Amino acid sequence: MQFNQLGLSQTVLAALEAKGYSKATPIQEQSIPSLLEGRDLLGIAQTGTGKTAAFMLPSIDRLVASGKRAQPRGCRMLVLAPTRELASQIAESARHYAKGTRLSVMTCFGGTSVHKNKTDLARGVDILVATPGRLVDLLDQCYAIMLGIEILVLDEADQMMDLGFIHALKRIVRELPAKRQTLFFSATMPKTIRELAGQFIKNPVEVKVTPEATTAERVEQRVTHVQQAEKQSLLTIMLRDPAIDRALIFTRTKHGADRVVKLLAGSGIASNAIHGNKSQPQRERALGEFKAGKVKILVATDIAARGIDVSGVSHVFNFELPNVPDQYVHRIGRTARAGATGLAISFCADDEKPYLRDIEKLTRQKITVVPLPEGFLAESARIKASRSPVPMSRDEQNGRNGRAFQKPNGQHASQRGPRPNPARGDQPRREGGPRADQPRREGGNFERRDGGSFERRDGAPQGEKPRNYARPKSKWHARPARAGQGGNRPR
Ligand code: AMP
Repeated sequence: MQFNQLGLSQTVLAALEAKGYSKATPIQEQSIPSLLEGRDLLGIAQTGTGKTAAFMLPSIDRLVASGKRAQPRGCRMLVLAPTRELASQIAESARHYAKGTRLSVMTCFGGTSVHKNKTDLARGVDILVATPGRLVDLLDQCYAIMLGIEILVLDEADQMMDLGFIHALKRIVRELPAKRQTLFFSATMPKTIRELAGQFIKNPVEVKVTPEATTAERVEQRVTHVQQAEKQSLLTIMLRDPAIDRALIFTRTKHGADRVVKLLAGSGIASNAIHGNKSQPQRERALGEFKAGKVKILVATDIAARGIDVSGVSHVFNFELPNVPDQYVHRIGRTARAGATGLAISFCADDEKPYLRDIEKLTRQKITVVPLPEGFLAESARIKASRSPVPMSRDEQNGRNGRAFQKPNGQHASQRGPRPNPARGDQPRREGGPRADQPRREGGNFERRDGGSFERRDGAPQGEKPRNYARPKSKWHARPARAGQGGNRPR
């Protein structure tokens, strides 16, 4: 159906035309007319279906039509999203679609200045796109007021639950006026999410698009069985494929992502990592370079990659298979955006075979097994031998990753005395810490996954908090817990 048959205003239609969109996607077709009438909505849809425009376009028209003004420290439409990346992208779309109107758009999420949020919000804003944690901070400090809200959108509710935002969400919703329009989106709708939705929405229109398995059908999927220790060589070989325009590589842990980047650099392949330990400017730079095609390889954890909307991702590599099968579908959905096709290649070590079975059960598809390339072991040995000593990443060199490279005595890594001078007979300086090609151990057999849960290295059951886990001392743990503040860690 064409957009101009859905009852949208000329202003919004002009913004769509500027984007080159004329035909509505199924979710847009099904939700826009009811949303223009002011109905609540329960949408079962994942990113890539066009859901941002589905909720943003009619909301813009309703905000313009109601003609109210945002009160100081308040907003008229609040969009809550689980990650900073998704929040930025929603705000970007909102700014584009609202170009012909006088509506203002603002984002607020962790990793940016609270002071700036406070001053930006002081005069009030029409559309506020926020992550729940930062918004609760602003509410607690009375820098934000939720009373004038006409429209509330909860995006990717299932991810918000997974990330532990439930208390923050409830805290925010308590402050909202009862008379409002509420839109609730989730990629999956298990009983718990449906019950949660029931607390927020009234008599909603229900819209369901693209069951998860269908996205998977558009992506050509392959799996190669390979030992964990050989995965890096296999990746290096596969990345030589000239057909790769942009590749997204998934690992299960943040350290895993950093390791891949470092080892690729050792083989002369440039890449960036994006995960919860990276600062906001680092994430934006990594994503910007990837989008611009300057760095063709982005290594990501599941959570950091949520909502990343980059067109032209030709390949997705699952360097490690996710232990939650839904994540596999989310991952491979990063390629094959907006109807395109893509290639997803998974590396499966022996201990990951049960994950592979779960994935095939969910997608109801058998993934094509591709054997290791001919002469792989010899080539792998050559790659390992020729890999240059793992260089420091650009962030390390520039001292941009303050937290990770802080020395125990509080000095920054760059403050470490005079450089060794071989002419004087000084020994080369040994880098401290574990060898970069070996996993860094954090709490015995466990490593923290992005999002806070635990990854066992020895293949034992996943997700349990280890008994011997020593909490890393960081500023985030030092912060006193406050009521209603679910997640104060940067994501
Ligand atoms: P979303 O599901 O909101 O993340 O959107 C996925 C991608 O599809 C984004 O890049 C949108 O800009 C794009 N998109 C949204 N609506 C349309 C449409 N009607 N036609 C073509 N592309 C669209």
